[in-house]
Amino acid sequence: MKAYDGMYIDGTWRPAAGRAVIEVVNPADEQVIATVPAGTAEDVDAAVRAARAALPAWAATPPAERAARLTALRDALLARQDEIAATVTAELGSPLKLSQAVHAAVPVAVAGSYAELAATYAFEERVGNSTVLHEPVGVVGAITPWNYPLHQIVAKTAPALAAGCTLVAKPAEDTPLVARLFAEAVHEAGIPAGVFNLVTGLGPVAGQALAEHPDVDLVSFTGSTAVGRRIGALATGMVKRVALELGGKSANVILPSADLARAVNVGVANVMTNSGQTCSAWTRMLVHREQYDEAVELAAAAAAKYGDRIGPVVNAGQRDRVRGYIEKGVAEGARIVAGGPESPRGTGYYVSPTVFADVTPGMTIAQEEIFGPVLSVLRYDDEDDALRIANGTVYGLAGAVWAGDEAEAVAFARRMDTGQVDINGGRFNPLAPFGGYKQSGVGRELGAHGLTEYLQTKSLQF
Ligand code: NAD
Repeated sequence: MKAYDGMYIDGTWRPAAGRAVIEVVNPADEQVIATVPAGTAEDVDAAVRAARAALPAWAATPPAERAARLTALRDALLARQDEIAATVTAELGSPLKLSQAVHAAVPVAVAGSYAELAATYAFEERVGNSTVLHEPVGVVGAITPWNYPLHQIVAKTAPALAAGCTLVAKPAEDTPLVARLFAEAVHEAGIPAGVFNLVTGLGPVAGQALAEHPDVDLVSFTGSTAVGRRIGALATGMVKRVALELGGKSANVILPSADLARAVNVGVANVMTNSGQTCSAWTRMLVHREQYDEAVELAAAAAAKYGDRIGPVVNAGQRDRVRGYIEKGVAEGARIVAGGPESPRGTGYYVSPTVFADVTPGMTIAQEEIFGPVLSVLRYDDEDDALRIANGTVYGLAGAVWAGDEAEAVAFARRMDTGQVDINGGRFNPLAPFGGYKQSGVGRELGAHGLTEYLQTKSLQF
């Protein structure tokens, strides 16, 4: 058990204003592995002041120099990959292989992509008789969740720094340790004091203080729709910019011409990865009536194979919430074909990989985000029916379409109300914009679209 004190503010590790701490628990064995300070409004204020003071110099730093710092940050993250992976495994519970391949590796790619964008982006352009300047928005408050704990921080910090903004990050209370490692990497990268600041703390205390701080120009939030709605209302009331990456209930549409076995197997893997704690997970599988029974059988077999390869969910509250959804699915008439609500192990916050058949579009498990290893398989009659079901939730974050012919899948994807669609499996692209339609959010992350969130424009006519 390690008791960390201090938060990274103005380039140093400063003691917190108060004495309260947050316990960090390993979800695989339920042991407390560390404590970190539970920051208060006073700590947030100190961090925002540091970010404000650092803003003029960082905003005036030539983009090439900002790019060089981001390259150094990428290298620092790369050098610490093993430590990052071990830390995410300890505080999130994800299997080490996943921590290495995704939690530690993706942030390196994203930081690298912004090093390049900072160097190449047209921060000035000529439009008719105007010069349009793309200037940093100012001080950013970044509030992040625990499910991809380092990725979420980097997906906000890297574009903010590339744009010339300064930032205060408030990571999720379950996963503050990798955030601390990130602050160390920022320091090693020679990013000037005050440009990046870290305050650990509880959402309703430190998070709320950051969102409502009058000297924060943009709040970038990733997390639940419930909290996002509050932050959106708060930001609108104060007329500050806001970016929201929220929940999802994404559809995996398998058209009759698709390779059914492949579509089902990849679809199950997509949901079970990270124990189902992925906002863009394809949690609703849509299968043509005539292929339905075969697909259900394939999905049940694929899920059963996950048995002991899956990690726990992040905490006891999430485990109970996910189990509650499984019980609700049964109560509403869906049929369990793999897994179920019983705990697969004595210790640790484990949930069995679960597949539901006979799910109808109006059921709770087909409408609400479960955020656990639970897949719902739904029937459709024809393409229009599939589209109605796919588009029939309040969310619109991601999705997938499978067909024998790529053009057929693309034509279907164009009609989906969602921010990102993978065609016949797709492949992660760190430059492609990521974000939601409808209640899945406001704004985009990653690539040049992610960079523009942190810029405001000024036009000069001459
Ligand atoms: P959450 O909304 O409870 O917490 C997210 C962050 O907000 C945490 O840092 C938390 O401390 C903070 N927070 C909580 N209450 C707050 C308040 N009143 N004011 C300010 N900050 C507050 O969500 P979670 O349980 O950590 O994460 C799971 C949710 O996040 C899921 O719904 C998931 O879909 C969503 N998510 C979305 C994306 C995306 O990109 N769209 C990515 C990851 C997670």
